[in-house]
Parts: sequence; C-alpha cells; structure tokens
Amino acid sequence: MATAEPVRVREESLVERTTCVVVGGGPAGMVVGLILARAGIHVTVLEKHADFLRDFRGDTIHPTTLELLDELGLIERFAAMPHNRVEEVRIPLEDGSTLRVGDLRRLRHPYPYIAMAPQWDFLNLLAEAGEAEPTFQLRMETEVTGLLRDGDRVTGVRCRRYGAAAAEPEYELRADLTIAADGRESLVRREAGLPVREFPVNADAWWFRLPTDGKVGETLMPRIVDGRFYVVIPRDGYLQIAHLIPKGADERLRARGVQVLRTEVAAAIPEAAEAARQLELADVKVLDVRVNRLRRWYADGLLCIGDAAHAMSPIGGVGVNLAVQDAVAAAGRLAGPLQAGTASTRDSRAVQRRRMFPTWATQTMQRGMHRGLDRVIEGGRGFRVPRQLQTLLRAVPQLTWVPARLVGIGALPEHAPRFARRQWTPARSG
Ligand SMILES: Cc1cc2nc3c(=O)[nH]c(=O)nc-3n(C[C@H](O)[C@H](O)[C@H](O)COP(=O)(O)OP(=O)(O)OC[C@H]3O[C@@H](n4cnc5c(N)ncnc54)[C@H](O)[C@@H]3O)c2cc1C
Repeated sequence: MATAEPVRVREESLVERTTCVVVGGGPAGMVVGLILARAGIHVTVLEKHADFLRDFRGDTIHPTTLELLDELGLIERFAAMPHNRVEEVRIPLEDGSTLRVGDLRRLRHPYPYIAMAPQWDFLNLLAEAGEAEPTFQLRMETEVTGLLRDGDRVTGVRCRRYGAAAAEPEYELRADLTIAADGRESLVRREAGLPVREFPVNADAWWFRLPTDGKVGETLMPRIVDGRFYVVIPRDGYLQIAHLIPKGADERLRARGVQVLRTEVAAAIPEAAEAARQLELADVKVLDVRVNRLRRWYADGLLCIGDAAHAMSPIGGVGVNLAVQDAVAAAGRLAGPLQAGTASTRDSRAVQRRRMFPTWATQTMQRGMHRGLDRVIEGGRGFRVPRQLQTLLRAVPQLTWVPARLVGIGALPEHAPRFARRQWTPARSG
C-alpha cells in the first residue's frame, strides 16, 4: 500500500489514498513534496489558495537555499528570474553613523549573497519542477479542514476543493504520513493538540512597498528616522519596506491618519518620496510578529515542519530558509521508510532532533536582537554597540564573516539527498 498511486477507493464516500500528504504549499511543503517525489514516493501537496501570488511573504533566499536549488538542478532557472542580491548588512548607530555587521562576500560559499526574490516566483519554480515528477501532485484551492484518525494515529486529512463557483464536497485523503507545512496558523498542529511554547516579542511590523525607477543597492540597512525604524529591502522595481512598530500599536498608529503616514515615510525614504505620497493605509499590512515552537513536532502518523513547527521573527529574514532546511531534512530521513512502508514516529522524532538545534539557535539569536531593539522601537534611538566592538569590526572587517555565516548559512545546513540531485527537465517543454 505504501507506494500505491493515489486512487479513489470508494466513489460514493470520496476517499482517496496516497503515500504522503503535505498540508500547505509554502516553501516547506513544496520542497518536501518535490524531494519525496524524486524518490518515487506518491506525494500530494494541498494548498488552499488558487495561486502563490500573495504579497508580503518572506522573500529572502539565503545561500543555503541557493545551494540547494543548485543541487536540485534548478539554479539556472532561478537565476533567470527577477531578483536582487544583498551582500552586506549595516546597522545605524546612535551617533548617526553606520556599521557593517555582516559581509556575505566573505563566506566561502558558491552563493555568497542573499537573493531577494518574490516568494511566488520561488514557489512557482518548485511547482514546475514537481510537475516533472510522475508521483508529485499539487492540488491548489484545496483546503484541509481536519485530520483523519484511527485511534491515536493520524491517517490523513479531510479536505475540500474550492472551485470557481463554490466549495465542492469534502473528501478524505488517507496517507501513511501527513506532513503539516501549513504555516504559523497551522490548523493541523491545533487539531493534533501539539503544545506550543510562545516567547514574548516587543514588535510588530508594518509591510508595504514603494515603487521606484532608480537602481536599488545591494546593502540591507535598517534606518532610523525621527525615532522610527525601517528596513528597506531592495527589490526589482520597488522597495519593500518593513517598519517595526511597538507590539499591538497598529490601531493607534493608523488612527493618526494617512497624511501622517505619508509624511513620515517620505522623510524616511527620500529616494521613494513621490511613491510615499501616494501610499494608502490599506496598502500597509500588519505582521503580528511571533516567535514560538512546538515542544513536540510529531504525533503518530504526523510531522510538522517550517512555520507550523516554529514561527520565526522576521529579524534576519530566516523563516524561508529554516522552513526549507526542515523540508530537506524531513525528506532525506523519511524517503526510505516511506518507500519501505515502515515510516514511524521514530523517523519523525529523528527529524525534530536534527532540526531542533538550528531552530533553537536561530530563535535565541532573534530573541536577543528583539531585546536590543527595545531602545530602537520604543525610544527611536540607534543601536548601541560597545565602542570596542565597533573599533574591532572596523579594524578587522574579516569578523563580519561571523554574523554573515550565522544568518546566511545558519547552524547545520542541509543538502539535497543524492536521489534528488538531477538536472530539471521542464515537464511542458515542447
Ligand atoms: C509579512 C511577512 C514577512 C516575512 N518576511 C520574511 C522574510 O523577509 N524572510 C523570511 O525568510 N521569512 C519571512 N517571513 C516568514 C516566512 O514567510 C515564513 O517563515 C515561511 O514562508 C515559512 O514557510 P512555510 O512553508 O513553513 O509556511 P508558509 O509560507 O506560511 O506556507 C504555509 C502554506 O500553507 C497554506 N495553508 C495554510 N492552511 C492551510 C489549510 N488548512 N489547507 C491547505 N493549505 C493551507 C497557506 O496558504 C500557505 O501557502 C515573513 C512572513 C510574513 C507573514
């Protein structure tokens, strides 16, 4: 049964079967689906949206993920997509100067930069690569509404397809393993009753974009203007802005009106002042920043990965990379047992064990940075970096390798399993 094709086993009650069902077609779900399919495993990815075209998602593709794309034979296609490179990170100091804290060019790595690419392009690329695999199925507009169980064991999901007109009847998709990659609001982890550990954070983020005709740079530098903190992310044809605000302040700040917003943004980002004057409050999305993680990422028949296992702060832009790394580790560990029909909680536990340290290390770093942000967000002052450290970083710029390595590559980078490495042949060529 383990490698049977997904077939409808009982027409009247709409029951289907596959080997692995993946809930959520984000970075984690698409990568785990593609790699498992390359092992010949029948995998069905369910994504509730009709397309990947959602704005305001993580758009940073880190060196480790770029290397993975290379290993999967997808890097040339990625390189042809519109993207920008960020090669260094600077921070504003309280005396008004800036300090380079991370220089990715110093990494001994084939891809020593962070690529800023719209997430939908990245996901479309993975979807196209998946199409080339006969055992890969992506079902868009299909929302998972609950879990199937046999005693304590999760045996698949209940789901419903939303066609153009209305929701179709619910059906059951049974599987040897269910992978929850349905993001930080994960319905699956809630339904499975997996306990979450929340960490307090002091900020939320406003997200908006400002079109610009000019060339955008390759430095990612937060700026503090009139006591407000912005991160300006260069993208093709526009600037993506993250404006950190105190936790829970969204409503209060909006109540000041659109003119205040426009004036503040135009002053902070003068190179896009004209666009700032067209900004509407409706263009500004609020991100409820959260840092949390599951104590246990698995149950019998179920494994959570990516944001479903651990929501990350946007600091460092590491959410996509971590989700992808979880997916690679999960696929590498589970492909054999799924093929043999022996996948068990031992395998899922092994995935959590492997990925817990990088998750813990990254979240610990983020929580430390949030504490450092207090004076910036609340007080509108620049970062305070001890003078000796500033002098050291300026005198020995090689040290900027360390933060670049922590953010760009992270702890325990994952590599594509051997069985998944191949050049990609587009499914619909010719
Ligand atoms: C505004 C914003 C900005 C961010 N900026 C950055 C950044 O710059 N860099 C970075 O690395 N990270 C950033 N992140 C975080 C990053 O987007 C996530 O960490 C990353 O996308 C996690 O990937 P994932 O696959 O685990 O989950 P997601 O990307 O959240 O994907 C989950 C998918 O599951 C689908 N889904 C959910 N429920 C169901 C259901 N019941 N049935 C079917 N499908 C379902 C969703 O539609 C979604 O497509 C940002 C997040 C937000 C919200």
